[in-house]
Amino acid sequence: MSNKDYYSILGVSKNASADEIKKSYRKLVLKYHPDKNPGDKSAEEKFKEINEAYEVLKDDKKRSAYDRYGSDAFSGGSSGSSGFEGFSSSGFSSGNFGDFSDIFEQMFGDSIFGGGRSSSRQQPGADIRYDIAVSLREACNGTSKNLRYTTFVRCDLCSGKGYDNKYTPTVCPNCGGRGSIRTRNGFLTIEQTCQQCGGQGSIISHPCRKCSGSGRVKAEKNLDVKIPAGIEPGSQIRIPNEGEAGFMGSPAGNLYVVVSVLPHDVFKLEGHDLKCTVYIPVATAILGGTIDVFDIDKKIHSINISHGTQTGTQVRIKSAGMPYYQSSRRGDMLVEIVIETPVDLTKQQRDLIEEFNSECSDKNNPKTKLTKDKFDRYI
Ligand SMILES: [Zn+2]
Ligand SMILES: [Zn+2]
Repeated sequence: MSNKDYYSILGVSKNASADEIKKSYRKLVLKYHPDKNPGDKSAEEKFKEINEAYEVLKDDKKRSAYDRYGSDAFSGGSSGSSGFEGFSSSGFSSGNFGDFSDIFEQMFGDSIFGGGRSSSRQQPGADIRYDIAVSLREACNGTSKNLRYTTFVRCDLCSGKGYDNKYTPTVCPNCGGRGSIRTRNGFLTIEQTCQQCGGQGSIISHPCRKCSGSGRVKAEKNLDVKIPAGIEPGSQIRIPNEGEAGFMGSPAGNLYVVVSVLPHDVFKLEGHDLKCTVYIPVATAILGGTIDVFDIDKKIHSINISHGTQTGTQVRIKSAGMPYYQSSRRGDMLVEIVIETPVDLTKQQRDLIEEFNSECSDKNNPKTKLTKDKFDRYI
């Protein structure tokens, strides 16, 4: 076996970078690929050589061994055949084209060699995402929403089959219905998608005139979706088979309805609790009293305000919050009390407050006193 010049096979200089080698390899492998040169023996030889050279030069260790000892270092003792077999440990052990084509697919995607293994005819439909917003009340009580969207639906003329019912498909004469063609190439067996039938194994002489053979057409869908009570913001509702129709009767994708919850004027959702802030007059806070609040369902709840209530006091109304999904349990309603300082006073009101204040001592404002003491100590 003669010593091969891997660098010149790949058309790069001896000090080419790994990137240059890869680039050149990709160009050459596409040019000499058996798919592009059917029956051309010299292209086939060249293709093998290119791969052999790349196998060595892409690997730093092998490359430096090659630089020192030449390609004979890699012939692995197998007489006459190419250096390929010497690399049985490097992922090519099975020696068939299956592994190879995986590598090609990773490198180039599956479009270059004629669609790869799955033909477009067997493709399931894509999933669809549909975003809707519901009010907080709707999220609590559940609702129904009408969705309208344009997508692919199964062609009604051919029932998704893609061909005119009068002309049933015939078995592909090229592959005999297998959908792929096997070629033996020395020790390699190359399996490729049949070009004539695109991997389907059958030939359609008269594609459906409505869908041009795809088995699906664009149409507007109109769908009612139930939003369950207690749905959490950002939840996804999966509706099977309401996504895009698949090609030629393949399964449809799913519809994912993503639910967001609109902000509410009064309530803020915290977990399953509904939180709100309620202002009360200073006199009610001082003397105590009763206030009425509404929950999300507009039901009235009376809250007792004890005398001496402070701002920030939280009142919990049990089970007046958001329901839990598929449960009779509910969160609570949390009412945060804020004492409103009166504004826009008349002269008389000011006088009364001043008179009131002159009657006050530290006993009436223990927290004010406490704060003052803390600061005094601090200074
Ligand atoms: Zn059709
Ligand atoms: Zn075929």
